Amino acid sequence: MLQIDRPGLRPQTQSFLDRRASGEGLLIDGAWTQAAGGGTLPTVDPATNAEIGRIADAGEGDVDSAVLAARRALPGWKATTPAQRARILWAIADLLEARIDELAELETLDQGKPLFVGRWAEIPGAINQFRFFAGQAMAIEGRVIDNSIDYQPAGKQVRSWTVREPVGVVAAIVPWNSPVVLTAMKLAPALAAGCTIVLKPAEDTSLTALMLGELMMEAGLPAGVLNIVTGLGSRTGAALANHPGVSKIAFTGSTQTGRAIMDSAKRDFKRVTLELGGKSPSIVMPDADLDLTIPGVANGIFFNAGQVCIAGSRLYVHRSIYDQVVDGVVRYGKGLTMGHGLAAETQMGPLVSGRHAARVAQFVDTARQDGATVLSGGELLGEAQTFIAPTVVVDVRPDMEIVREEVFGPVVVAQPFDEVEEVIESANASHYGLAASVWTQSLSTAHRMSSAIEAGTVWINCHAMYDASLPIGGIKQSGSGRDSGRQALDGYLEWKTVCAVL
Ligand code: NAD
Repeated sequence: MLQIDRPGLRPQTQSFLDRRASGEGLLIDGAWTQAAGGGTLPTVDPATNAEIGRIADAGEGDVDSAVLAARRALPGWKATTPAQRARILWAIADLLEARIDELAELETLDQGKPLFVGRWAEIPGAINQFRFFAGQAMAIEGRVIDNSIDYQPAGKQVRSWTVREPVGVVAAIVPWNSPVVLTAMKLAPALAAGCTIVLKPAEDTSLTALMLGELMMEAGLPAGVLNIVTGLGSRTGAALANHPGVSKIAFTGSTQTGRAIMDSAKRDFKRVTLELGGKSPSIVMPDADLDLTIPGVANGIFFNAGQVCIAGSRLYVHRSIYDQVVDGVVRYGKGLTMGHGLAAETQMGPLVSGRHAARVAQFVDTARQDGATVLSGGELLGEAQTFIAPTVVVDVRPDMEIVREEVFGPVVVAQPFDEVEEVIESANASHYGLAASVWTQSLSTAHRMSSAIEAGTVWINCHAMYDASLPIGGIKQSGSGRDSGRQALDGYLEWKTVCAVL
């Protein structure tokens, strides 16, 4: 039995919990309030299932107040200069940096991930989002367009140009796997563009969004520019997505919920960006550098206990090195230390909840019943039954559920291949198209594969590298639109055409 002891918290983290995790956690028009109905929902430490606080359970009325506050704040925020917005975005980044330890601790407590993941990867990634989009705010530009209109009154000229304007109120709806950075990926470009926001964090991991809200107000964001509503997706999220005052839904989450979001958007023709699920292939070519590849593909799936949209959950290995690579990945996984995310030695924490862990274990059980071999992991561990050891599944067929569907846990299915064409076909035989990695030392193989693979991102000799400057998003059922990079800003701006007889 896995023993889990929770180390103590920093006084600042404890004081945040005392202040904000008692259900008074809606940010509406610059003020913190309870849900109008007074309802709260528990939020737990997934490593132990112990309740760590309560979040407000926002209803339709609260969502309405938040959207109205965002609408009222829109003209003022839209009228700020790019430099004013950039200054606030940069100040947010500075505050996040100053408070990074408590933010990382809170993320681990609420989500379960090892402390170092938040401290050294995700929160620095979030900080860079605010800095990158502080710069982008200063680089928004329209175009002067030459035209062929020849029916202007005599002596007059027709001049035309485009300007960029914010889309309006943005509903940012985010999942629980990497809450801080995924939230920053929405908020930073939306604010840079001049949009106002209603944020709905995931019900399992709302606490860091509330800390982010506190820091963003402290950085000087005017009241109503950012509003936060917490609660269940089916109630609070749906009310927000359906609200006619919302101009755009910026959604990250499952493909299934993405469909519901499209339905919510269609009545008012809301703008939508969707960052959805994935079943990303890691492809190991016969010439791969295995010292780099084995830890690379193992981390590509086991990082954050596999709860990563871009996780390399399908491993294709050339038959000549298949046994060596699969054995290496199994050994790498067995070497990872599991425990409470706050413990310094922990390399892999629990899954986000008992419900989710049971779902992941069910995928593995079904695969076993379908004839697959489970080389490692697959069982629920710990008193809270929220841990699953790194799991490697072999002897699978392409039609099996575990090969086709997103498991969203530390579970990789390995399959051998013989020919390049064959592995390209297998990699593309998925309704997802989020990401892929190719492991090879041949430049021409790298180019050929990166153009042949149907995915929003292809990594060569690495997996899951991302940066605020790099657009990320999917094709096929992995979504549409992009977070990060200059392309993300476009998603929060409309084009307005001005045509003038002068
Ligand atoms: P989810 O779809 O269950 O929930 C995501 C968010 O949507 C939550 O805040 C939830 O409360 C809300 N929600 C649920 N139902 C809703 C509804 N009917 N209307 C409005 N909002 C609703 O996803 P999850 O389980 O929290 O996250 C895991 C999923 O997110 C995985 O599929 C993963 O691949 C995906 N993801 C994608 C990316 C990406 O960039 N493509 C990044 C991270 C996670």
